[in-house]
Amino acid sequence: MRKTSGNPLFWLFWLFLFFMLVQNLSRSRDISVKQLSGNELTEAMQAGKVQGINFYPTENPRVTGKMQTEFNGKTVVVDFEVQVVGAAHLESIRKLAEEKRIQYNTAKPNVPWFGTLFNLLLIASFLLSILFFWFIFKAQTSQINTIRGGNKKFRTTFKDNKEKKTFQDVAGCDEAKEELQEIVEFLKNPAVFSGVGGHIPKGVLMIGAPGTGKTLLAKALAGEANVPFLSATGSEFIEMFVGVGAARVRALFAEAKACAPCIVFIDEVDAVGKKRGVAIGGGHDEREQTLDQILTELDGFSGDTKVIVIAATNRPDVLDEALVRAGRFDRHVQVPKPDVRGRELILKVHAKGVKLASDVDLTIVAKDTAGMVGADLANVVNEAALIAARRKKAAADKADFSEAVDKVSMGPMRKSTKLTDKEKKITAYHESGHALVAMFLRDKGADPVHKVTIIPRGPALGFTKQLPEDDRHLYTRQQLESMVAVCVGGRAAEELVIGDVTTGASNDFLKATSILRKMVCELGMSEAGLVVYREKSDFWGNSTGMDASQKTKELIERIVKETLDKIYENVKVILQEHRAKLDAMANALLERETLDAKDVLEIINSD
Ligand code: ADP
Ligand code: ZN
Repeated sequence: MRKTSGNPLFWLFWLFLFFMLVQNLSRSRDISVKQLSGNELTEAMQAGKVQGINFYPTENPRVTGKMQTEFNGKTVVVDFEVQVVGAAHLESIRKLAEEKRIQYNTAKPNVPWFGTLFNLLLIASFLLSILFFWFIFKAQTSQINTIRGGNKKFRTTFKDNKEKKTFQDVAGCDEAKEELQEIVEFLKNPAVFSGVGGHIPKGVLMIGAPGTGKTLLAKALAGEANVPFLSATGSEFIEMFVGVGAARVRALFAEAKACAPCIVFIDEVDAVGKKRGVAIGGGHDEREQTLDQILTELDGFSGDTKVIVIAATNRPDVLDEALVRAGRFDRHVQVPKPDVRGRELILKVHAKGVKLASDVDLTIVAKDTAGMVGADLANVVNEAALIAARRKKAAADKADFSEAVDKVSMGPMRKSTKLTDKEKKITAYHESGHALVAMFLRDKGADPVHKVTIIPRGPALGFTKQLPEDDRHLYTRQQLESMVAVCVGGRAAEELVIGDVTTGASNDFLKATSILRKMVCELGMSEAGLVVYREKSDFWGNSTGMDASQKTKELIERIVKETLDKIYENVKVILQEHRAKLDAMANALLERETLDAKDVLEIINSD
């Protein structure tokens, strides 16, 4: 019922009101018709004032016509109407009319077609508006009933019967699976656990970035234990009407208890479980009630209720403490982004249904996809298959995978974007700048270049992709500064070669600045000291500025700016020194559009 105005019945309701209005208006026009009694009519006819008569010998016999009358001292012609008491009366009027030679005619016994249509429409809209009210009433009662826990029709099927998953379908995340294994055992064989007096968690909080496989893990857990899987999303509980969310939570848990043992999965629990604060506005009240209801349900489980509630979040830090307290979601399972081995395993799982050419090495694809999560990897395999099909190949090969990785990470190729020769040249130098700086700062921790291209893709006109040789867990200050240097390498090359600068580097600066700010404000890597200065946010997550004094803010800004300037000057020096290689790489790019790691190395090592 949130979007009442989008409901067709809503409009029909207005249509009905409109017809009522029109009907009323036409009624009010009737009032200008002079109503006469039978005697008055006879008198008027005798006096010769009546000019024409229509007879309506219908169920409601009447006579209408035109007559002269006095109005404000003038003689005017008006319509009149007389209700006739019976056929005899009608006949006498007709006789008199003949006598007095007054024109008359007898109307057909049916009402004019327009009136019929009008009446039909009126009836139809009336019926529809009844339907409308009935609809509202129904929705309201069912909501009220759900709130009371009575009616189960509103939204109670939380059960997800789609294909069953097992831990086999989840690649990597071994630690998470191990943590969950215990719960599988409990669900399969609760007697063992209660015999020892062990305590099984009621609530498990899964923490991990979107797409890392939290839903998949929970589903697989249900599959392993062979119990039903019920799922809901946190945002689903946030409704306009206060109390509806809580009612849904109640419905969810009622269903869970009915099909226990089972798994209840609540995705995006942070939507309802944010820290509680000052109550302003209905949405907030609603969230609080919903959260309270979840807590009540969790607390209400007795030791032998075989319902395990799994909640997933990306941001455990914003969750209300009440939610993660002992006895509630106290078991935390981290679902990290996969490392290179994990990525390979995930790729293998998804490549099962896809024909692969012999030149595809998923180990290399895994290396190629640093930073991607399970959902991205599933997407890469799928895209590769689609690309291969589009190219009419029998199996997806290395090139298809390479294209798929670029597409998933950078967006689709923009074939329609036609760059001018000048733009192409600038882009070639810009990307060569990034790549050269990366290659010349290898000893300072910059990652080697994996690919450089000037084929526009997504929002970018070209890109330079670096790949770490191993998965990184820590970054040194020098590595971070090298990253910043690579970021500004594009602009430095433009300035050096073109003698002017373009708008193409805005994203690079954004990234460079954010790395530097983090180094200063959160990582204690500058003279601003080891204190952490964070952006503060209010209850709704809106930024309220930096948590620092004005003086400190100025200091931070100064450090960031000075460091960036210093790095930029340094980068310009590097590029100037290797100007010949910069030209060589830009020319190679203009010629071939894409260079891979080998091509780049060749250019770097040439003399
Ligand atoms: P989350 O709930 O963490 O946002 P999902 O569980 O919805 O992520 O994952 C989305 C999809 O990504 C899954 O359906 C699956 O195809 C794929 N996926 C994610 N992680 C893995 C994994 N570890 N192994 C296999 N596939 C995965
Ligand atoms: Zn750039």
